[in-house]
Amino acid sequence: MKRKDFMLKMLAALPATSIAMNLTELKTLAGSLEATPKMPVLFLGHGSPMNAIEENKFVQGFRKISNGIESPKAILCISAHWETQGTKVTAMQNPRTIHDFGGFPKTLYEVQYPAPGNPQLAKEVSEISKTSGIQLDESWGLDHGAWSVIKHMYPQADVPVIQLSLDYAKTPQQHYELAKELTPLRSKGILIVGSGNLVHNLGAIDWRKLNESYAFDWAKEASAKMNRFILNGDHQNLIAYKKHGKAFELAIPTPEHYLPLLYVLALQQKNETVYLFNDEPLGGSLTMTSVRIG
Ligand code: ZN
Repeated sequence: MKRKDFMLKMLAALPATSIAMNLTELKTLAGSLEATPKMPVLFLGHGSPMNAIEENKFVQGFRKISNGIESPKAILCISAHWETQGTKVTAMQNPRTIHDFGGFPKTLYEVQYPAPGNPQLAKEVSEISKTSGIQLDESWGLDHGAWSVIKHMYPQADVPVIQLSLDYAKTPQQHYELAKELTPLRSKGILIVGSGNLVHNLGAIDWRKLNESYAFDWAKEASAKMNRFILNGDHQNLIAYKKHGKAFELAIPTPEHYLPLLYVLALQQKNETVYLFNDEPLGGSLTMTSVRIG
């Protein structure tokens, strides 16, 4: 893919028709409060929206990871593409598929991912935090940070999905603290997924090498350090990402694609395993590195 439109800041969401699949209503309500074995937590590097419709090693990675996970009762996704004043959680029964990008082929705009929401779970999430008020939201839906990856994991769209927004006003430490409060959900069959990219500088992309496993030196340096911190459980250095100098500044020019990682790390319990997959750069200034905890 060689489209500079990828660089365009995501456009306002287009209205999209939401198509409910009622078979999934069976999974939505009553069951969500039962105790289950602890679910893993995932950070997924989503990359280009084209990954939603392309077949490549990254989407194979998403598929493979979901095959190794017990079917969740619902997914809570923290996507780079939903930033708000205050923290919000989607509470509608049937979230629309939001095509929040510009300049891609028509087939990408035709994709619908009709997973249901889970209003009861949204209510539970809205009441879970002692430190942050989480507001119920009826207007968002599923943005491409969520559906472009989840669609490969659950192609039947039969697992309910809700989204939690990123509050502009929070510091990285505050995001991390809020995420810790989501911990009980892991024992209730909820799969928590952060979706972003660890190294994400679209302004610096070498478009000729967009499909090549290629990283600029600064991207290599930042990615290697991030990976080491993740694997060592050194969360403080990842929260304090602004203190690591030029390579990190270039890797994280804006925080929204990075912050979902902090939500995932905050949920790591003592002695839990962590491993990386899809750990590859693209186009010089983007990494697809993804993380499974537990
Ligand atoms: Zn993105």
